[in-house]
Amino acid sequence: MIKELCKDEAVLSTKCQRATAEDAPIAQDLVDTMKSLEDCGCLAANQIGVTKAVIAYQDDDGTPHVMYNPRIMMGLRAGKTVEACLTRDEPSKVTRYQKVKVSYDELVDGELKTRRRDFTGFEAQMIQHMCDHCQGKLV
Ligand SMILES: [Zn+2]
Repeated sequence: MIKELCKDEAVLSTKCQRATAEDAPIAQDLVDTMKSLEDCGCLAANQIGVTKAVIAYQDDDGTPHVMYNPRIMMGLRAGKTVEACLTRDEPSKVTRYQKVKVSYDELVDGELKTRRRDFTGFEAQMIQHMCDHCQGKLV
């Protein structure tokens, strides 16, 4: 279901709780909402008002992906950049890695399975931005 974006700083600055397989409807809402917005490459659950660690992003082909409980395990080649955020009026200066190793859970047959994957470039940047949201950082 398409949800309204939440710009409430109290919600956005709350550290998200660990997500479980029961949070699958949130993931679907994230994907639906992300697709409904122009120029929206990624969305975290607290941006639609739910403080659970679930994120969605689209790859270069526009295919949506969902991650439960994403965590950056390692980063390479840090650099400074400026990022805009859908639920924040002002862009922020941030440090981002060009390459990251990410641990996350994926829903397979109704159960969460832990995965590890490397990401580079824009996907890596979006995932770092989403992990900040999950930590309750305003970016
Ligand atoms: Zn954001």
